[in-house]
Amino acid sequence: MAERIPETVYKKLSERLHFYEDLGVRLFYRDRGASHALSMATPAAESFEAPIGQPISSEEAALPKSTRNPELPKATPPAPRALPTQAAETAPRASYQPEPLPIPAAPSLFEPFDKVPDDTLLKIRTDLGECTRCKLHTTRNKIVFGDGNPKAELVFVGEGPGHDEDMQGLPFVGRAGKLLTQMIEAMGLQRKDVYICNVVKCRPPENRAPEKDEVEQCSPFLLRQIDAIAPKVIVCLGSVAAQTVLETNRGISQFRGKWLEFRGRKLMATYHPAYLLRNPSAKSEVWKDLQKVMAVLGLEVKKGKSAEAGKSS
Ligand code: URA
Repeated sequence: MAERIPETVYKKLSERLHFYEDLGVRLFYRDRGASHALSMATPAAESFEAPIGQPISSEEAALPKSTRNPELPKATPPAPRALPTQAAETAPRASYQPEPLPIPAAPSLFEPFDKVPDDTLLKIRTDLGECTRCKLHTTRNKIVFGDGNPKAELVFVGEGPGHDEDMQGLPFVGRAGKLLTQMIEAMGLQRKDVYICNVVKCRPPENRAPEKDEVEQCSPFLLRQIDAIAPKVIVCLGSVAAQTVLETNRGISQFRGKWLEFRGRKLMATYHPAYLLRNPSAKSEVWKDLQKVMAVLGLEVKKGKSAEAGKSS
């Protein structure tokens, strides 16, 4: 007969799983052992300390030359996306060139949407209204439209609101959000300098991944947000956001940290802050990614600087 878990352990485990669930971390059981589940997050896991002495090399900073016009002309169909091929991934960085993705098997969710002329975040929010376009409206508390600078050069795209976001109507305000704030501050920016939004604007129940019909209904608003803001760089946080936006089933590790294109803009995928809470050692990878973003945005990467911006808990 299976051994009964002691009540205190059960309670701890249950709290921990709820915590991860609130962060939007799924597949927990698959990639973490029970012993890990019980290990409490250390303060280090919840702060973003940019590793010392990891300046971006000039080689890493070099962007792949786009074969396309970097800015989309107004009211033209979106530029095709690009992901590295297997060959490109094994090639030396300096010779890396993004190559067009093979045409997806299913019709693209994004291709049909052209730019809306003179669009603004206010118009988009008004058009979204008290949205009932998909089933997520039945369980949401608040719509989480997005937050930040409407003229931001940097847009972060997450997956979808979690519990805290659903309660407050603001993106990334829970524990993962605090880490994202620290990441932003480590870049020498503040939250109000960037724009933060999600693939879907309403919390999926139990923090499950957004379903295709939900993404389909919500994605025009994300695209309009990106087009209206016209950022230099889009950073997708986590595999769900990246795979959804790029319409690929490839694992994020295959293209994380590489420059891609989305609707004529530079896009990089990196790990979700919630993943970093579980895997603090991956912060150095994310920091390298963010340094590439900083190089493109002309932000100073201070050699040897340990960025502990916003360190809390
Ligand atoms: N995770 C997300 O992907 N988005 C949020 O807004 C919060 C947590």
